[in-house]
Amino acid sequence: MQPIIELNQVYKDYPQAGGRQTVLHGIDLRIAAGEFVAIVGPSGNGKSTLLNLIAGIDHPSRGEIVVAGHALQNLGNERLARWRGEHVGIVFQFFQLLPALSLLQNVILPMDFLGRLPKRQRRERALQLLDSVGLLGAADRLPSQVSGGQQQRAAIARALANDPPLIVADEPTGNLDSASADSVFDLFSHLRDRGKTLLMVTHNEALADAASRKLEIRGGRLHADSHREPR
Ligand code: ADP
Ligand code: MG
Repeated sequence: MQPIIELNQVYKDYPQAGGRQTVLHGIDLRIAAGEFVAIVGPSGNGKSTLLNLIAGIDHPSRGEIVVAGHALQNLGNERLARWRGEHVGIVFQFFQLLPALSLLQNVILPMDFLGRLPKRQRRERALQLLDSVGLLGAADRLPSQVSGGQQQRAAIARALANDPPLIVADEPTGNLDSASADSVFDLFSHLRDRGKTLLMVTHNEALADAASRKLEIRGGRLHADSHREPR
């Protein structure tokens, strides 16, 4: 079966004073649809860079990245943005909700971007998604008017807006207290059970233990790759 994510000899360099810094050194990787993959490793070793390449937020310097049937290195920025809107839901450590929009409007935004659903249905779907993360009562609040845990749950609802097959998350519980982290954990476990492909950088042991596979990135290389029974 065709993997949902395939990387062949992927390199990423950043320009630096007096030369360039190679942050990823020839990553080869295959991930099947429905896998829940935890990415671990020390800080500054390239985890976010790898995630951003797979999510189409950034371009590789060299190599091939095929995700959900599209060779990302061949897409220009506009087509990449469209591809992202259809195929990937992204969850960040600091939520990245738009501060001037209500939670409801934040969840509607990705649907407006794609324009697949009629307007009325976008609002209904957004309300259902907020309900599914326990935020129906807070739909009209601004991000600043709710807790960090609630903002992250709204961000997860937003990531699901266009029903993407792939969800990527970069330290999604890194800025949450343990009770909020637990509720975010439950949402990701539920997504795993629904067959979504999940790729997550995390230092949270419970989250890493819920994964079916653990990738360890060290020095911009795939240092270890272990399949395991999720808890
Ligand atoms: P991790 O997520 O594992 O902490 P990152 O992928 O964020 O690591 O960063 C890996 C390395 O790449 C770090 O040395 C970081 O400073 C560098 N880096 C990341 N993003 C950029 C950028 N936009 N420009 C220059 N250097 C960057
Ligand atoms: Mg990081």
